[in-house]
Amino acid sequence: MINRNKGFSNLTAGYLFPEIARRRREYAEKHPGSSIISLGIGNTTEPLSPHIAKAMSDYALALATPEGYSGYGDEQGLKALREKIAQVLYAGKVDASEVFISDGAKCDIARIQTLFGRDVKVAVQDPAYPVYVDGSVVVGAAGQMKADGSGYEGIVYMPCVPENNFFPDLSVVPENSIIYFCSPNNPTGAASTKEELTRLVEYARKHGCIIIFDAAYMEFIRNPELPKTIFEIPGAKECAIEINSFSKPAGFTGVRLGWSIVPNELKFADGSSVNKDWNRVMTTLFNGASNIAQAGGLAALDEEGLKEMKAIIDYYLENVKTMGKVLNGQKFKDAGVKVYSTGNSPYLWVYFPGYKSWDIFDKILEECNVVVTPGSGFGPAGEGFVRFSAFGHHKDVEEACKRFENLKL
Ligand SMILES: *Cc1c(COP(=O)(O)O)cnc(C)c1O
Repeated sequence: MINRNKGFSNLTAGYLFPEIARRRREYAEKHPGSSIISLGIGNTTEPLSPHIAKAMSDYALALATPEGYSGYGDEQGLKALREKIAQVLYAGKVDASEVFISDGAKCDIARIQTLFGRDVKVAVQDPAYPVYVDGSVVVGAAGQMKADGSGYEGIVYMPCVPENNFFPDLSVVPENSIIYFCSPNNPTGAASTKEELTRLVEYARKHGCIIIFDAAYMEFIRNPELPKTIFEIPGAKECAIEINSFSKPAGFTGVRLGWSIVPNELKFADGSSVNKDWNRVMTTLFNGASNIAQAGGLAALDEEGLKEMKAIIDYYLENVKTMGKVLNGQKFKDAGVKVYSTGNSPYLWVYFPGYKSWDIFDKILEECNVVVTPGSGFGPAGEGFVRFSAFGHHKDVEEACKRFENLKL
C-alpha cells in the first residue's frame, strides 16, 4: 500500500471553516426554525456589477462563434490583462512580464510552496490566513504541531497583537526565511503603514528573506497615506512577491481570478531568477485562468468597472461602521470588549476578556444566532479574539447588530 503523505498526518484538526460549518449545522439541527446570520467566512455577498457580468457574458457567447472561439491561452494570462494590471493597479511600477494571471490568490499561495520546496524556513504573522501555515505543513516545510499546541515545528510565528499595534517584531525571523505578510490583514484588519513596510523590506533585504505579500484587500484601503502594494516601498522588487485577487474587490470569489507579481530583479541564492521558475510553475502545473473570467477582469479595470468595484467596497465598509458602532457601545465597553478596526479592511477584530475564542463563538451562535470566526483558528495569538466579517447584506448586518444586544457578557 501507499504511505500517506506525512504532511497530511501532521496537519492537526480540521481546516477552520469546515469546523465552523459543523458547529453551525449542529446548532441548526438542534434548533430548527432559527435563522442564522453568517458573519463568519469572508465570502462576498453582493451581486457582480452589471458591466463586468456583461463583459463575461459577451465573451462566453462569442465562444460559440468561429471568430470568437479560443482554446488554451497563454498560461501566464491574457497579455492585455497583464498590461492593464501593471498600468492601472501598479501605475507602471511593475512590468507586464512580472504579472501572472491565475485562478485566485489561495491557489497561488499553494503553488508558491512548490517554488520553495520543503527545505525553506517559514515565518508567518500570528494570527494569519490559514493557508500559509497549512500549505507549508502539507509540503513538509513545517513539521508536527508542538506538544503544547503553540504552533507547528519549523514555523516562526510573529505575534501581531494590540501591544505592538499588529506589526510584528521582525528580529525573531531567521536569515533566509520566506515571510508571509498580509496587509490589510485578514483576520486583524490592520493595514501596515509605509514606515512599517519599509522596515519589513529593509529587514528582508538585509537577511536574505523573500516576502510573500498578500494584498487581497488592497482596494479596501481608504486612507491615502497607506501603501496599497508592497511595490510602493523602495527595494521591494529585490525581496518580495505579491499575491492578489479579484475575489474581494469585484466579488469574484466564485468566478475565480487572481494574479501574482514576481519581479524580474528577484533572485535565488545561486543568482537564478525567481520569475523564470515561477513561469515554469505556472506553465507546468497550471494551464491558465478561465478566458471568460479574464474578460471580466479586463472590464473590472476599465473606468466603469473601477467605479463599480469602489461602490461595492464602500457598501461593505458601511457594514464595518454599522458593526463598529454597536460593538463599541456602552454595554460592550462595560464588559471590557475591545474592538480593533481601521476602516481599511472588511474585518473587525474583537477581544472578549475572560473568554476563549471558541467559547465566545458558541455564545454568539447560541444567544444571537450569528456565526463569527474564532480568532484562535488563525493562530495562537488569536486566542480570546473573534473576527466579524463585513461581507453581508446591509439588512442582515443590521439584524445581527440588533441581536448583539442579546449577548450576555
Ligand atoms: C480571501 C483571501 C484570499 C483568497 O483569495 P482567492 O483569490 O479567492 O483564492 C487570499 N488571501 C487572503 C488574505 C484572503 O482573505
